[in-house]
Amino acid sequence: MLKIAFPHLGYCAIPLRAMLARLGHEVVVPPPISRKTIDLGTRYGPEFACYPLKLGLGNFIEALEMGADTLLMGGGIGPCRFGYYAQVQKEILASLGYKFRMIVIEPPLGHARQVLAAARELKGKESWLALAEAAWLALFKLRACDDIHRACLYWRPRVVDKTGLSRLYKKALAAVDRAETPGAVREARAAALAAMEKLPQNAVVPPRVALVGEVYLLAEPAANLYIEEKLGNMGIEVVRHVWISEWLKVNIFLDFLRLRRREQAEKLARPHLSCFVGGHGQHSVGETVKAARDGLDGVVHVYPFTCTPEIVARGIMHKIAAKHGLPLACFSLDEHSGEAGFVTRLEAFADIIRANRSKKEAVRHG
Ligand code: SF4
Repeated sequence: MLKIAFPHLGYCAIPLRAMLARLGHEVVVPPPISRKTIDLGTRYGPEFACYPLKLGLGNFIEALEMGADTLLMGGGIGPCRFGYYAQVQKEILASLGYKFRMIVIEPPLGHARQVLAAARELKGKESWLALAEAAWLALFKLRACDDIHRACLYWRPRVVDKTGLSRLYKKALAAVDRAETPGAVREARAAALAAMEKLPQNAVVPPRVALVGEVYLLAEPAANLYIEEKLGNMGIEVVRHVWISEWLKVNIFLDFLRLRRREQAEKLARPHLSCFVGGHGQHSVGETVKAARDGLDGVVHVYPFTCTPEIVARGIMHKIAAKHGLPLACFSLDEHSGEAGFVTRLEAFADIIRANRSKKEAVRHG
């Protein structure tokens, strides 16, 4: 039995805990990302490392202090730095004197043997069927969490009691966490969606903005300074197309089966950025084109400071946004990002979005 931990990524602790506990491991979930996590990651991580590496390092230190003996981490390939994360974190933690094993899940394409070796370590004495069942339950939970989160993004600008919605959201995720079978997950998801729909709503149709960028910053609220909640509370609907369950489907299952995996965002980006630049750079360009095509009111771009793929995307996105008269706000975030300046910029962006919306409506009504 392993005492296993993993870094946080939004609500991914829910499916990961379910899968690893099913396989008989003791799961050590690190505390939610806090100032302490950020301080640990930035104290021991290289100064110019990407922000997600530092936050993951902070999670690992906190988990090792809680008694974890095994760390689970994703691997990567391509032109950006994600492929180095596990190795760099491993060496830093070893230099700090921690004793542990690290299991790295590489992307399956070209690494099938390493993926199978990692799966064998995770399944331990359990059968391959037990591993498949545990992974299936985890995926079911992840999909449910994505659906509940998507619904929350939709309802937040529309409901009157936003604190009530936040409470409901937390309760819904806790119910998915407790569910022990796919049927119970389905029930928890359905109950949450129905309860959100019943909350009293205001009559205004909110403006809609696309939230695009680097996947960690999109999925981890503590890293993006709770941008979705802030925009929603300002009366703006956030539309997101990058979801972890979708990402897993494309990058793990389709790659593993070597099936064709070209996504719509990649297709839309091609006339502007024809090659993979690492991370989600090409997606961010494609999502900006999609936002203009779908008549959204603006685009918000979030990425870690020094994230090369998103810096490449940003220049192209500015041109696309300018061509379509689409307001674009770019936020490069790291441990130095201050809440007050961030909120001021978001409020200014929200004002522009609302003013544009009023102008469009005035034109439409003559
Ligand atoms: S996508 Fe950006 S943040 Fe992520 S590893 Fe690559 S450079 Fe770093």
